[in-house]
Amino acid sequence: MRQLFLLLLALLFANNAFCWGFFAHQKINYCSVFLLPPEMMVFCKQNIVFLSEHAVDPDKRRYAVAEEGPRHYLDIDHYGAYPFEALPRRWDSAVVKYGEDSLIANGIVPWWVQTMKVRLTNAFKEKNGAKILKLSAEIGHYIADAHVPLHASSNHDGQHTDQKGIHGFWESRVPELLAEKEWDFFIGKAEYIKNTQDYIWKRVLESAAAADTVLKYEKILSQRFPSDQRYSFEARNGTVIRQYSSAYAKAYNDGLDGMIERRMRLSIFSIASFWYTAWVDAGQPDLNTLSGTTFSETEQKEFEELNKAWRTAGAKSRPHE
Ligand SMILES: [Zn+2]
Repeated sequence: MRQLFLLLLALLFANNAFCWGFFAHQKINYCSVFLLPPEMMVFCKQNIVFLSEHAVDPDKRRYAVAEEGPRHYLDIDHYGAYPFEALPRRWDSAVVKYGEDSLIANGIVPWWVQTMKVRLTNAFKEKNGAKILKLSAEIGHYIADAHVPLHASSNHDGQHTDQKGIHGFWESRVPELLAEKEWDFFIGKAEYIKNTQDYIWKRVLESAAAADTVLKYEKILSQRFPSDQRYSFEARNGTVIRQYSSAYAKAYNDGLDGMIERRMRLSIFSIASFWYTAWVDAGQPDLNTLSGTTFSETEQKEFEELNKAWRTAGAKSRPHE
């Protein structure tokens, strides 16, 4: 019985490790809307609940579609040392050098953001409201993931350094604890991005450079905190879960000197700027004509299928990332 209980706890604990966590992804997409120019703001504000809720669709899809996983990260340390110049930034050149299979095996987030940018621009050109909303919500997810240091490291959950759980700690636990109460999400305006490929690679390289700090500092802190103070048990939705204690989360956040808040703010700025850039590149279509956008039966069904896959996976255990 006790063993079963511990196993259950371990599973629940593992379940906390997602990309940016559901809470942060939804908040990031939500906040991005407020950086948009008035011509975009009206349509996006009307649909802000959709844009926020569906920020997590790509994570749900991971349990239904095998190709989905690699779109969320890049294990860039497989390609030598920072700044990883051996790795071509253009997809076609990278394929020539490494082959598609091995690229996919190590993750493809910066290239996937680029693909999504093209799709979103086309949706704006077609003035297809449903497509614009779906793609905007989803590109937001991938852009935000590219800002997470542990999404640019093969040691993505501290599994090589005895720090399992650090993935969800950085991107779920700390933001859930501090974002609403202590962090500031008043960010200027979206800006046009001249070269979206260069832009997203810069963010991935920043993430890769920060991954070491994310891991090292937790290691140092864990030696200062006895394990009974590192974790706490809290009731959530009627279940008791083990998680990093708030004292430990706060100490970690202080030690990182605002890094998580900065990456979250930059995610918001980047997403709004990608949305804005796609709209400009499409010739600034009038979005007022799209008010009252609804989703077709097929699209509604797709959303339901995603949720089903997600819930089924939740009933079993969910893999990290
Ligand atoms: Zn993700």
